[in-house]
Amino acid sequence: MNDVIMIKYGEIILKGQNRPLFEEKLIKNIKFKINGLGEYKIKKMQATIYIEPKDPSYPYEEAIARLLTVFGIVSVTRAKHLKKDMEQVKAEALRCMEALRGKVKTFKVESKRSDKKFPLKSPDINQEVGNYLYDHLNGIIDVDVHHPEAVLRVEIRDEGAYVYASKEKGPGGLPVGINGKAALLLSGGIDSPAAGFLMARRGVELIGVHFHSYPYTSERAKQKVVDLAKVLTRYCDKFKLFVVPFTDIQLEINDKFPSEYMTLIMRRYMMKISERIAEREGARALVTGESLGQVASQTMYALHVTNSAVTLPVFRPLIGLDKEDIVGISRRMGAFDISIQPYEDCCTVFTPKHPKTKPMLDVVERIEAKVDMSKMVDEAVENAEVIALQYEAEM
Ligand code: ATP
Ligand code: MG
Repeated sequence: MNDVIMIKYGEIILKGQNRPLFEEKLIKNIKFKINGLGEYKIKKMQATIYIEPKDPSYPYEEAIARLLTVFGIVSVTRAKHLKKDMEQVKAEALRCMEALRGKVKTFKVESKRSDKKFPLKSPDINQEVGNYLYDHLNGIIDVDVHHPEAVLRVEIRDEGAYVYASKEKGPGGLPVGINGKAALLLSGGIDSPAAGFLMARRGVELIGVHFHSYPYTSERAKQKVVDLAKVLTRYCDKFKLFVVPFTDIQLEINDKFPSEYMTLIMRRYMMKISERIAEREGARALVTGESLGQVASQTMYALHVTNSAVTLPVFRPLIGLDKEDIVGISRRMGAFDISIQPYEDCCTVFTPKHPKTKPMLDVVERIEAKVDMSKMVDEAVENAEVIALQYEAEM
C-alpha cells in the first residue's frame, strides 16, 4: 500500500447546501494542479480528500508543494497507509516522532476510529500508542495532553490505518472559481498583484487588464506585467490578460485637460475600459490595488471620483492595509522581486506635479464632458492584445 496525501479543507462554508459545489470545484482545481505527476486515485471522505498514487515513486514532495498553492486547502499531509495492525501503527508512530526529534519538546496522540469493528476504541489506541512512544523516546519528547507542540495522529478506517505527525499549512480561502469572475486592473507595481492574490483566495476567478503606453513605457515594462500575471497563475491556474493600448488616450488627456485632474481622468478611463472588457468576459466586478491615502489618487474624494466612472462593484482588498502588510503579501505570493524591477508604468510617465487631493465629482464630470473620447475608448477595447496564460510547473 502506498502512502496517501491527505487534504483537509475549511469547514465554515461546508455546513450549507454549498458543500458539494465547493468540494467539486476544489477537486477539479487539485486535479489541474497535480496533472502530469503520475497516476492516482482521488476520493473524498469525512471532509478529507485522499490522493492515492499508483506508483510508490510518485513525487510526493512536488505534489504537496503544488497543493499548498490551491486555495480552499487548510492542510496537507503525507500519511503512511498501513494494515490495521497495532504493531505496525506503533512502529510508524515512533518513526514519525523520531523525525521530529529536536524540533518539538511535547506531544500527544490523537486517534479516530471510523471502522467501528476495530477492537480498540480511540482512547485505548491513544493510550497504547502514547505509552509505546513514551517508553521509546527516552523522555526526549514529553507527553503534554493540553498544549502539545506536536500531535501524532492515528486514523483507523475501513480501508486501513493512517499514521502521521506533521501537516503543512495550506493557503486557506475558497477554491478559485466558486465565487464568480472579476477583472483585475494589473499594473507592474507591488499592490495590484497582491490585490489579485487576495481576491483569488476568496474564490474569485480573475482576468487581468493592463494599460500600456508604448513607447512611453517599454516592451520590458509590459513583459514585467506578463511575468506578474504568470505568478498569479500559480494560484489561479488560468489568467487571461488584456493589454490595452493606452498611449493615444493618455496623450489626449494630457493635451485637453487641466494638469491637476489628469491622473484622475486617466484612472476613470482605465475603469471604464476595464468595465467594458469585464462585461464582455462575463466578469461581475473590478479589482484594484488601491489603499486609502497611499497617493493623491487614493484619497476618499479621489476614490469617489474614480468609482463613479463605472457601475460594476469595485473591490479594493488592500484598502485598509499598510504598505508593509502589502509587501508581506507580495513576498508570500512570490511577486515582490518582479514588482520591484525598475520598469515604469504609464502612471509614472504622465504624473502631474500637483494632483488634486480633494476632487469633486461634479467638477470632474463637467471637465470630462468637454471632450468626447468615446471613439478612442472603443478603439482601445477593440485593439486590446489578449494573452492567455496558464499555470506551468516550474520543475
Ligand atoms: P500598484 O502598485 O498596483 O501599481 P500603485 O500604488 O502604484 O498601485 P496607482 O498607480 O495609483 O497605485 O494605481 C492604483 C491602481 O490602479 C493599481 O493598484 C491598479 O489596480 C490600477 N492601475 C494603475 N496603473 C495601471 C496600469 N498601467 N494598468 C492597469 N491597472 C493599473
Ligand atoms: Mg502603480
